[in-house]
Amino acid sequence: MNKVKIQFLGSGDAFGSGGRLQTCIMVSSNQNKILLDCGTTVLIGMRKYKINPNDIDMIFISHLHGDHFGGLPYFILEAQKLSKRTTPLIIAGPAGTKERVAQAMEILFPGSTIDETNFALKFIELEPNNPQVLDGITVMPYLGEHPSGAPTLILRLEFSNKVLAYSGDTELIPNLIKAGQQADLLITEASTYEQKIKYHIDYKTLMKHKDEINAKRMIVTHMGEDVLSRLYQLECEYAVDGKIFEV
Ligand SMILES: [Zn+2]
Ligand SMILES: [Zn+2]
Repeated sequence: MNKVKIQFLGSGDAFGSGGRLQTCIMVSSNQNKILLDCGTTVLIGMRKYKINPNDIDMIFISHLHGDHFGGLPYFILEAQKLSKRTTPLIIAGPAGTKERVAQAMEILFPGSTIDETNFALKFIELEPNNPQVLDGITVMPYLGEHPSGAPTLILRLEFSNKVLAYSGDTELIPNLIKAGQQADLLITEASTYEQKIKYHIDYKTLMKHKDEINAKRMIVTHMGEDVLSRLYQLECEYAVDGKIFEV
């Protein structure tokens, strides 16, 4: 049975909690290598864990907050200037992703543009409840509850024989429960231990609904300082920068 390998190139929140890099999860299957989210620190993670950016075929973006998509300008510029990428790159994210990336590039590196890359750069819009097949992966986006100036998505990805669900940032809502059903792995945020923060999930709430979510395995990530200081108390697997999991 083909395994899917998951490596956390960044398992932190937006605020550098625990000295962790921002959200970026590399998923490798026998068909392709993808990133789930692309936080601002993406290239630091790639250098640290010796990942060649040219090996990434596709980047899925859950929502348009800097700690989840802010690495795209760096990734695209690096591909153009240093890695001399020639193979196509697909970026699949919520409506408005292409415009927000173009704006971010112009603000961070005036004059840089996504229209003049030497490689084919294709943006694909993911619509809630509308499954699409991209490079052999069936992606089903569900709407999350987390304002980001564009729809926030919870992603359920079906590889040839494995299903992976990824929450990005969201409150725990019925759509997360839908996305998690029978998934081989759910990767979900737990921003706090028990403190309720609107539009985010705390570890205690997550565990309360674990059976309903019904994923076969669960890894929490995007942890703030209070969760990080209680890792020894967690009754589920948790992400660490660089750590590799297999399903
Ligand atoms: Zn976040
Ligand atoms: Zn967010």
